[in-house]
Amino acid sequence: MVAKTDYERLVLFVRTASLDVLVQRLMSSGLLKKQVRCSHCTLQMQLGTNADKGDGFRWICMNKHCSHYKTTIGLRVGSFFAGFKASLSDLCTVIFCWLLEKPAKDIIADFGISKNLATKVTQKLRGVISIGFKSFFVN
Ligand SMILES: [Zn+2]
Repeated sequence: MVAKTDYERLVLFVRTASLDVLVQRLMSSGLLKKQVRCSHCTLQMQLGTNADKGDGFRWICMNKHCSHYKTTIGLRVGSFFAGFKASLSDLCTVIFCWLLEKPAKDIIADFGISKNLATKVTQKLRGVISIGFKSFFVN
């Protein structure tokens, strides 16, 4: 079990880290994919920057023979974060605070995160855990 102070350090980290560092950390911990294959040519896509918007990165098919050459997909594909528009920093904050059993009103007050986002993230977390335990009882 991780000590409470470890979670608090994680929250501080996700609130202050640069996007590059946060993305690398999420990849190295398996929370974001490190490799993505093009759904058309099945070759490995390259991680490119997308400084103008979103997470700052995107996956790009660089196979010149692929009909979807230079097609991009979002960094969050296949991860817990897919489907959310909020920043990775805000999403990680809600997740770590939820793990700390911090009341939703504190998450909202301390970090300026909307109640709607906090609710959606915690509902998804409960859903993921619930699915895991349902398969635990079936197997
Ligand atoms: Zn391709």
